[in-house]
Amino acid sequence: MSYDHQKIEVEARKKWAGLSLYECNLTDDSKEPYYLLCEFPYPSGDLHTGHWYAFAVTDIYARMLRARGKNVLFPIGFDAFGLPAENAAIRNGVDPAKWTLANIERMKAQLNAMGVSFDWSKEVVACDPSYYHWTQWLFIKLFEHELAERREAPVKWCPKDQTVLANEQVIDGHCERCGTEVEEKRLTQWFLKITQYAERLLKNLETLPWREEIKEAQRAWIGKSGGAYLDFEVRAKSGHRMSTLGSIRVFTTRPDTLYGATYLVLAPEHPLVQEITSSKFEIPNKDQIEKYINETKKKTERERSENKEKTGVKLEGVVAVNPATKEEIPVYLADYVLNSYGTGAIMAVPAHDERDYRARRARLQVRQKV
Ligand SMILES: [Zn+2]
Repeated sequence: MSYDHQKIEVEARKKWAGLSLYECNLTDDSKEPYYLLCEFPYPSGDLHTGHWYAFAVTDIYARMLRARGKNVLFPIGFDAFGLPAENAAIRNGVDPAKWTLANIERMKAQLNAMGVSFDWSKEVVACDPSYYHWTQWLFIKLFEHELAERREAPVKWCPKDQTVLANEQVIDGHCERCGTEVEEKRLTQWFLKITQYAERLLKNLETLPWREEIKEAQRAWIGKSGGAYLDFEVRAKSGHRMSTLGSIRVFTTRPDTLYGATYLVLAPEHPLVQEITSSKFEIPNKDQIEKYINETKKKTERERSENKEKTGVKLEGVVAVNPATKEEIPVYLADYVLNSYGTGAIMAVPAHDERDYRARRARLQVRQKV
């Protein structure tokens, strides 16, 4: 006799489905509740090993919790809004809705064939109006509380496809779809003011049992750290003399290192850069600066911040005044400084570089933990 898995397992699955074994009764308070959530897959077509890398262990854990008498809510769904559906629709001339729903059906069959203990009665599909009307409801609530605001910000733009591109769609400065060189364009967009909650996010982060380097990454993302804003007067050559043309504001977590600040670095998009290059001021290397700005426009913010080799160019003929020492210090442009982060300008303190300091502090804390 041999084990005919195809026949036997199909029968077994039918029986399990009929018993609603994994359906969580949310009103049952006789057992301790446990909400076990894994990241919902994107319905790209077929499941792959990566999906099982995430689901198998979570499934084992769900079964263990149930065996220990917990009332386990272990739902599943599909994170079904996305660029791949749009790309597939263009490539194959299919309706993105049809393509997405067909993929979901296929993946559901595969998930079920593996016998995972998901509670399918709570399934959500992000592209279904019954789901996204809640996303819309949430947005309206944020808007009513003045937590959603519209403002201009740079985006990656494909001039051929006439569309905004996500960072993931920019490959080496070119559009993933058509290969056209990507441009940067300023467009009005919606932003959610999470900064309003920065204090709470930072405070509550402390209570989480996460690794220190993950917490440090979160802190950088939350973006609010204790420190001070400092204003540097900026002077440029106009005619025979240096005249004040404005000021550069920097944020630092270490205002005590101001005495050691020996140069400033601006994001290439910093408004002052445009002002300087398009004005009467004499900038000997204007061409070099404009070239650098154009090269930066082709890069995504991620590429810029991950860039291992720092590049930059000096703003010739421009100086900033260190407010503590009154010393004139040079000003550089560098693409690792992002205009969307902080003030778009940093002061460099060779002995106490701010980023190095943060990284060192994170490493130190990790070491102290072990
Ligand atoms: Zn394109």
